[in-house]
Amino acid sequence: MKEVDLVIRGAQVVSPDRIVPAAVAVAGEQIVAVGHDDTMPPAREELRADGLYLLPGAIDSHVHFRDPGYPHKETWKTGSAAAALGGVTTVFEMPNTNPATGTIEALRIKQKAAEASYVDFGIHGLLGDDTIDRLEELLEGGVTSFKAFVGNTFGNLPAPTDGALLEGFETLAPLGIRTVVHAENSSILQRRQKQMQAAGRIDAMAHLAARPAVAEIEAIGRVLTLAEWTGARVHIAHHSAADSLYLLREARARGVDVTAETCPQYLLLNTDHMRTLGGVMRLNPPIREPRHNQPLWNALMDGTLDMIATDHAPHAPEEKTRPNIWECDCGFPGVETQMPLMLTEVNRGRASLMDYVRWSAVNPAKAWGLYGTKGVIAPGAHADIAFVDMSRTGVLSQNKLQSISKISPWNGRAVQGYPVHTLLRGRFVMREGRLVQDMAGWGRSVKSVQRMPTAKPRNTEHYSSAILRTPPGVPETATPVGEIDWSRA
Ligand SMILES: [Zn+2]
Repeated sequence: MKEVDLVIRGAQVVSPDRIVPAAVAVAGEQIVAVGHDDTMPPAREELRADGLYLLPGAIDSHVHFRDPGYPHKETWKTGSAAAALGGVTTVFEMPNTNPATGTIEALRIKQKAAEASYVDFGIHGLLGDDTIDRLEELLEGGVTSFKAFVGNTFGNLPAPTDGALLEGFETLAPLGIRTVVHAENSSILQRRQKQMQAAGRIDAMAHLAARPAVAEIEAIGRVLTLAEWTGARVHIAHHSAADSLYLLREARARGVDVTAETCPQYLLLNTDHMRTLGGVMRLNPPIREPRHNQPLWNALMDGTLDMIATDHAPHAPEEKTRPNIWECDCGFPGVETQMPLMLTEVNRGRASLMDYVRWSAVNPAKAWGLYGTKGVIAPGAHADIAFVDMSRTGVLSQNKLQSISKISPWNGRAVQGYPVHTLLRGRFVMREGRLVQDMAGWGRSVKSVQRMPTAKPRNTEHYSSAILRTPPGVPETATPVGEIDWSRA
């Protein structure tokens, strides 16, 4: 047998339906064998991993690396280093940087910044009123997917109008491209926040009062209506409310291709923590009352929610601790702490490691068209592996975060279960809990391995975007508006 680069022995390999003791052989960037010890080829390096579990590297669909524009909050190098330390091998990065990722020029700047990445990445381009004519161009330029900020958040990008959202979905539906939606109704948020401010409220609870669950319910309902009409694939970001889960179930039952994430903070934190954490906990959508926690867990267990993402949204400590809640920046880091937090819940018996792998790797890989190449430990897949020690205990410390942002609501939280090595395409980017410094730049875009099968729009007879602009692949003609070839529309 031909010599390979690495054989890992003694560990348990985790998939969504089983945990089996198996050796894993890696050649170059790929897994080439998973099986009994005796069947492994000779290797340049043999690694004993007794007592450890091998999980497909986590795929975080929602991170903000703040680069370009806000390098004092985070950079691609520091954010991706945090990911590597957290057992995360692929991230999808959000477009609310400065410049926002809505033009080819801005995309090129981001791609340049991403050259420092320790982990593989996708880039969400911006879907807004100003960018809907550039979606195909951005896709050709390398974005993997889009993000629509239907509710306002850091960066203050204007929410797309409903008309623009519909047109954007009409363009993206036949291409099969999925759009992430920050689903909150911006009109409700703006009016409520003004009322709170006029009443002199500057406390943390006022932020929650300004963003009631109904804002999420309404926005998800609207987005799913437009997705169903156009056939567009959508992904609901940071699902926060128990009350909007039924919309996902009903839309799926009708055949809408919707995926949805929630984050550890919505599962494990609630208003009880707000009194001590205040502005540190400020994020969008807000962390809600205790009654939301368990239904979100149940929704992960029954598949209504597909995955765990983090909304890794770093800021400087002074930007998170201002006395006036409206002046505290929204979000906090999460890409590095997600795995220990969730593994702790597995250790408590709230879910199995197989469930966790489904939420952290399998379902995100499927949503973004990477499954088979990523999200699984099997021959032919990228050798993206999080080596996990389920018995290791510790206390999360914000000062020790790899992220530039050294402020976290998880500070001081006891955890059990840590990633101890992270392998990305056959190379260690984290080993023995330490970043492998010279692997900066090993990460690359997943665009070249992404496969999003095209979807057929459901309402072809109403499919009207061809009136507004020439569909992709059809040459520009000088057909007067009154003589449109409806057979093409
Ligand atoms: Zn976000």
